[in-house]
Amino acid sequence: MERRGFFSLLAGMSTGLCMARMAGTAQAQSLRPTPSCPDGAQPTPRQTAGPYFKPHSPERASLLEPGMPGMKIVVTGMVRLANCQPVPRALIDVWHADDRGAYDNAGFRLRGHQYTDDQGRYRLETIVPGNYPGRTRHFHVNVQAPKGPVLTTQLYFPGEAGNAGDPIFSRELVLRVQDGAEVRAATFDFVLRA
Ligand code: FE
Repeated sequence: MERRGFFSLLAGMSTGLCMARMAGTAQAQSLRPTPSCPDGAQPTPRQTAGPYFKPHSPERASLLEPGMPGMKIVVTGMVRLANCQPVPRALIDVWHADDRGAYDNAGFRLRGHQYTDDQGRYRLETIVPGNYPGRTRHFHVNVQAPKGPVLTTQLYFPGEAGNAGDPIFSRELVLRVQDGAEVRAATFDFVLRA
């Protein structure tokens, strides 16, 4: 082989290697975790279930019923593990007060459960709960990965006058809420212990 030919072959090989490295870097960048799940996501804090939980709620993603008074709200989000992995088929059981602050303890009004989809997502339609004495506005929720322990917690609303005076209110459990004309849209992601 001529010297020249040998060197141009070497040059060609190193250019090829370099391009392979660049392609690898581009691939690594596209596989970065999404910004919504930073490293070391903290598990969602637990809170008391309070006195009004009832087992055996109906399976339904909408708790709305015809003629039900109150501001409609759609809550969406994900259930995932602290390592960011989504949890498909996680149970989400919600119960809350009506717009006057009363719970239905005889039946199942404003009570229901659903399961996350295969990407760990959920969507709940309901009304904004009313206040009742001693508590700021809140939802009650049980979340459970398949065969996992139950996370019992509560979700709160931003900018509520009652938040500061409620001893168990937690800023980590505040919904991100957008106000619409007739329907509010809120988001919350639950993080379970792996
Ligand atoms: Fe309550």
